[in-house]
Amino acid sequence: MTRSDRLLLDALEQALESGGMRLLYQPKVASSSGRLVRVEALIRWQHPQLGAVPPARFVPLAEAHGLIDVLTQWALRTALRQWREWKGQGLDTAVAVNISAVSLEHLDFPDLVERLCRALDVPTDRLVLELTEGATQPLIKLMDTLTRFRIKGVGLAVDDFGTGYSGLTQLRRLPFTEIKIDREFVTDLPQSRDDAVIVRAVTELAHGLGLTVTAEGVETIEQLAALREIGCDHVQGYLLAHPLEAADLVPWASRHQRRWKMLVRPPEDARLRARLEAG
Ligand code: C2E
Ligand code: MG
Ligand code: MG
Repeated sequence: MTRSDRLLLDALEQALESGGMRLLYQPKVASSSGRLVRVEALIRWQHPQLGAVPPARFVPLAEAHGLIDVLTQWALRTALRQWREWKGQGLDTAVAVNISAVSLEHLDFPDLVERLCRALDVPTDRLVLELTEGATQPLIKLMDTLTRFRIKGVGLAVDDFGTGYSGLTQLRRLPFTEIKIDREFVTDLPQSRDDAVIVRAVTELAHGLGLTVTAEGVETIEQLAALREIGCDHVQGYLLAHPLEAADLVPWASRHQRRWKMLVRPPEDARLRARLEAG
């Protein structure tokens, strides 16, 4: 391990112990109605000297050096506790937590998650675990754990679909409930005919397998229109909302439906559209 990795890892461990981490929550909405279907918890770390360290930097480090289970459990507990608080405010949504495949290697992990749900009074079907496709290799090794989660009612999503190792043919044997099409295939819609063909084919195949499809990284009105036309079930991205502080979700939800109506019937004027896209 390099010296800078060692220092970062020590600081991360300390941050996890001392309340130095937090979660932001990004809404995900039904593409037909705009209804809020779920929020995805995204971890944030503000290092006292380095500033914001992106999860893409510290999550792999935690995975490689034995800190990932602490991180995973902290994220789960925080997100579930937050769900309970929203519920108390009258907002009944589901919450998705990103889970490293490393944490899934423990066969008792599903029991631990179930106990956490029970302790924090969250029905298991309000929780979705997002797994990155690349990291779920070899998929078949995770079969037992994934099945245990499904028996308990916890939802399972394949994150970043299309960038990793497995395809839909492997997925048909695994008990996932949802796939999230990676931003890479969304960015150039609707101009890229290739990407449109891919997103359509993946959506149709996934529907045939009984899976829900989410498109990630939706940033423009045109992308939203293309995804709605294709029949992607859910959309998520900066166009709908950036990752939000927990306290900002209820105010966002109360403003969102009005804005949604404009997003799906946007003004002709380019300047008005640009302003609408910007939020
Ligand atoms: P992900 O789960 O695929 O999350 C989506 C990433 O895209 C997030 O980056 C989000 O902030 C960003 N994003 C959302 N909408 C848009 C958009 O419209 N445009 C663009 N350009 N980006 C968008 P973030 O928060 O930096 O997270 C990166 C990755 O780190 C996540 O990818 C996830 O794999 C991992 N991660 C985040 N939080 C956790 C966690 O609590 N535990 C674990 N194990 N991994 C996490
Ligand atoms: Mg995710
Ligand atoms: Mg993703």
